[in-house]
Amino acid sequence: MDLNYSDEEKAFRAEVRSFLAENLPAEVSDKVRRGISLGKEGHEKWHATLNARGWLAYNWPREFGGAEWNAVQRHIFEEECAAAYAPRIVPFGLSMLAPVLQKFGTKEQQDHYLPRILSGDDWWCQGYSEPGAGSDLASLKTRAVRDGDHYVVNGQKTWTTLGQYANWIFCLVRTDPEAKQQEGISFLLIDMTTPGITVRPIVLLDGTPEVNEVFFDDVRVPVENLVGEENKGWTYAKYLLTHERTNIAGVGFSQAGLDAVKRIARIETANGRPLIENPHFAARLAQIEIDLMAMATTNMRIISQAASGQAPGVESSMLKVKGTIIRQEINDLTRRAVGPYAMPFASEAVEGDNAPIGPDYAGPVAAHYFNNRKLSIFGGSNEIQRGIIAKVKMGG
Ligand SMILES: Cc1cc2nc3c(=O)[nH]c(=O)nc-3n(C[C@H](O)[C@H](O)[C@H](O)COP(=O)(O)OP(=O)(O)OC[C@H]3O[C@@H](n4cnc5c(N)ncnc54)[C@H](O)[C@@H]3O)c2cc1C
Repeated sequence: MDLNYSDEEKAFRAEVRSFLAENLPAEVSDKVRRGISLGKEGHEKWHATLNARGWLAYNWPREFGGAEWNAVQRHIFEEECAAAYAPRIVPFGLSMLAPVLQKFGTKEQQDHYLPRILSGDDWWCQGYSEPGAGSDLASLKTRAVRDGDHYVVNGQKTWTTLGQYANWIFCLVRTDPEAKQQEGISFLLIDMTTPGITVRPIVLLDGTPEVNEVFFDDVRVPVENLVGEENKGWTYAKYLLTHERTNIAGVGFSQAGLDAVKRIARIETANGRPLIENPHFAARLAQIEIDLMAMATTNMRIISQAASGQAPGVESSMLKVKGTIIRQEINDLTRRAVGPYAMPFASEAVEGDNAPIGPDYAGPVAAHYFNNRKLSIFGGSNEIQRGIIAKVKMGG
């Protein structure tokens, strides 16, 4: 295993860096750096910029219009984007649904939906979780009953991220209530404008309506919107989750967050000295930096294995746990660094439409701290990941 970058990879990094320098507007990166929401339009614009360069679908095979980058190229791109404070690529259509359609969809589904994901005509959201089905996803109850050329869907999804922007939702629905839990589930594509769908926002701890409840009341879905075979949806759902967990370590995000907290700690003071010189603060900062370096090395090791054809297994659970702990630690340290400025509850700061209390870097700090409690819950909670690690590594 060679952890050094080849000359070709270094040239690729330079190409990505100069693309970002030329195409990422300063006001956009400034918003991302300060943690201000970009809204639907902001994300769509950035997607269009990447799509014009052929870099939006960098994980897709070329035959579907993707860049088909290898694991190292993807890592370099993600690292450079995080360092430049580029907007994150919204994953639901591009990195979750698309791989499922490419592997299990019909030719008609591929020809119809994939170009619309690239062009931005469709904004997808993920309808997996339900009030009684999160970690125990297979206990989901939303029901789809065949009626001629349609399924009639009734039930409720929840925690649907950015569902308020979406015109399509991919859903796990129960088509056979008699079968064993995992065997009676199907994967349906549902047009959000169909009569009978209600989207209700859930306001999170940070005051933003980032997630939603989605209700289905006799929603008629054409049978051609079924992906793969009826009652085989669990297989496709699991395949999708392996893609949801790419870039799970979030090394670039943590690195950018660490740089930001260092900048703040050079400005803020404690006992008349820059905070960064305070021994307790410096020790905690150093510990996070050491943890991040260790994780980045593990991440590179796994990327290097992936580049030589080995699929990551339990390692992605290890990266999820460690990566999210590090990001939450950075949020906590940043909150402490801005001190009393993190006290006022000013969720509007995330929208960027009011003057922050204190310096501008302090505005969204508290909101981020609260919002990022989610990191250890979604994408498979950290407790569930620890269970997987224990089972695989320790035979528990
Ligand atoms: C901000 C946010 C965005 C989300 N976006 C989406 C989305 O777009 N689409 C979607 O479908 N879902 C989404 N989710 C849902 C997410 O996948 C679930 O929240 C997650 O799977 C946990 O399920 P739950 O919330 O029902 O908690 P539960 O499963 O009820 O768990 C409650 C607690 O018990 C622990 N626990 C549960 N089972 C075990 C076990 N076997 N061993 C040890 N501990 C256990 C959990 O770790 C957790 O701490 C989102 C969640 C959040 C917070």
